[in-house]
Amino acid sequence: NNPAYDGNNIFAKILKGEIPSYRVYEDEHAVAFMDVMPQAPGHTLVMPKQPSRNLLDADPATLSHLVTVVQKVANAVKDAFDADGIYIAQFNEASAGQTVFHLHFHVIPRHEGAALKP
Ligand code: 5GP
Repeated sequence: NNPAYDGNNIFAKILKGEIPSYRVYEDEHAVAFMDVMPQAPGHTLVMPKQPSRNLLDADPATLSHLVTVVQKVANAVKDAFDADGIYIAQFNEASAGQTVFHLHFHVIPRHEGAALKP
């Protein structure tokens, strides 16, 4: 029922365990894992287990649970990395900067005065 979803994307492989990842949170519906090319120390990604290409096609139940996981992870990385703030980012389609086509939220610790990597 979601023809736009390509099950061969790299996060689908991470979900299946075909590609290793450093998981920091997991429940029945979601996984959080460290980004391999962090924009800042502690850069974490949160994704649903339910196949969704991005926010635009995600079902509301998946999305609402996912946001509660984003909140948990944001508080955890804020503590763990002693961050001043947390930047949440999420991209939909290549034109908007999406490179992996399985829905995910970026959770990025921010420190006063530290520049974001481009
Ligand atoms: P986006 O699609 O939102 O632009 O970003 C995808 C993110 O996934 C990037 O920040 C990139 O560093 C990360 N990424 C790409 N491939 C892998 C991977 O194999 N493992 C992990 N942990 N992160 C990845």
